[in-house]
Amino acid sequence: MKILIIGAGPGGYETALLAAGRGIEVILVEASQVGGTCLNEGCIPTKSFCRNAQILDQLKDAGAFGITDLNYGFDFNAVLQRKNAVVDQLRSGVEGLLAHKNITLVQGKASFKDAHTVLVTRESSSVEYTADYIIIATGSVSAVLPVPGADLPGILTSREILDLQEVPGRLCVIGGGVIGLEFASVFRSFGSDVTVLEYCKEVLPHFDADLAKRLRSSLGKRGIEISTQSQVTAIAKNEEGYTISYMRKGKEESIDADKVLMAVGRKPNVFSLNLDDAGIGYGPRGIAVNENMQTNVPHIYAVGDINGRMMLAHAAVFQGIVALDHIMGMQNHVDLSVMPAAVFTSPEAAGVGMTEDECKEKGMKVRCLKSFFRANGKAVTMGETEGFCKLVVAEDGRVLGCHMFGPHSSDIIQEACAMISRHATVDEFASVIHVHPSLSEVLQSAIHSI
Ligand code: FAD
Repeated sequence: MKILIIGAGPGGYETALLAAGRGIEVILVEASQVGGTCLNEGCIPTKSFCRNAQILDQLKDAGAFGITDLNYGFDFNAVLQRKNAVVDQLRSGVEGLLAHKNITLVQGKASFKDAHTVLVTRESSSVEYTADYIIIATGSVSAVLPVPGADLPGILTSREILDLQEVPGRLCVIGGGVIGLEFASVFRSFGSDVTVLEYCKEVLPHFDADLAKRLRSSLGKRGIEISTQSQVTAIAKNEEGYTISYMRKGKEESIDADKVLMAVGRKPNVFSLNLDDAGIGYGPRGIAVNENMQTNVPHIYAVGDINGRMMLAHAAVFQGIVALDHIMGMQNHVDLSVMPAAVFTSPEAAGVGMTEDECKEKGMKVRCLKSFFRANGKAVTMGETEGFCKLVVAEDGRVLGCHMFGPHSSDIIQEACAMISRHATVDEFASVIHVHPSLSEVLQSAIHSI
């Protein structure tokens, strides 16, 4: 069997590695760099920044730990160099794995000639490829607000902000979603005055409302201005930077900033694929797929951001497993509905499963069990007591969701994810023993808050 995969982001390269490991001949086509958005301009470089931000925050707090006369400088150039080194290291690791598994990596831009033929163009020459199955994993690109001035030179997306040569004095982030808040948090730690303008009533619209509200207030305490219900109407250049105009509760307002980050979501990258000639169905939300990640053309699959289902790296990877298992006629046990998500702000936030509001909208009776990091011994010793943990529990005792913010939430959520994906009840949660003192005891405390 031969599979051709378009796009070497996490959806593409992880599926390629798995397929090759199962003895399938794989051709992997990549227009840019192996690793995709995630490794080159998404998850990884941002988390390298987060680590720098975290160290800076800890240094600022050092006095509370008896460390005095701390005299440190901050070399932003070194931050950039470290970020680039982290990305390079991981990218060459992936390249090495692909070579080790004898995967044919073709550099060039793929487009469909017909449902069975993919044309790969590099510089001015094109080569045709065919395969038994084709998996599209071309990811997504930053969306831009359709307002005057959004295309002004110097307006940043999540890609360009990673390569800023200096920390902006005043940063305006348009969009209070995951990407917007992560950059807001990091650049606040780096020293910027940050304002976030969010169109919705609350930040992080897809997260638990309680969590979003508390996280917003926590970021506010760190000096990040967050203005919700703010609809940006125009961006204009001024002498020093930009003026961003917005409507808030019927009133016209504006702020000035040196730099503007456009973080208003991402669009599936369908643009150059010529999907029409292959008869593949798609819309503004991406390529339409069924629960097996199969498009309307049975031998063509679409995984990751391109199908618009869940724009997360681990979602792309697991959708790839589902697609490959289906291609190979193998039984699959992945439950894509239990998908954890994290926000790497300071403090972190994370969630998995149903939110309280989702349950209410579906008319389900639930109760919520809560605990707070301020009562967690480890958090107190760390001096990081901000945050809470909330479990959403069904009438029959099954835990449907877990939502938290606080130190290391992105790690702690994994236990809840494992339990929820196995349909565990409150009693089963309660039977798991936790190390003491540990941050993960916050889950145990929530269970015992009954
Ligand atoms: P991508 O990673 O986008 O890869 C697609 C690849 O296809 C690219 O390499 C592209 O060059 C290639 N390609 C496109 N068109 C063609 C073509 N015609 N021919 C050949 N190749 C083509 N997710 C998380 O889970 N955790 C995080 O912490 C996180 N942080 C993020 C931070 C930022 C700033 C951003 C922007 C995203 C973040 N994400 C995060 C989201 C994550 O990066 C994506 O969900 C993930 O990369 C999607 O993987 P993918 O394989 O679908 O696509």
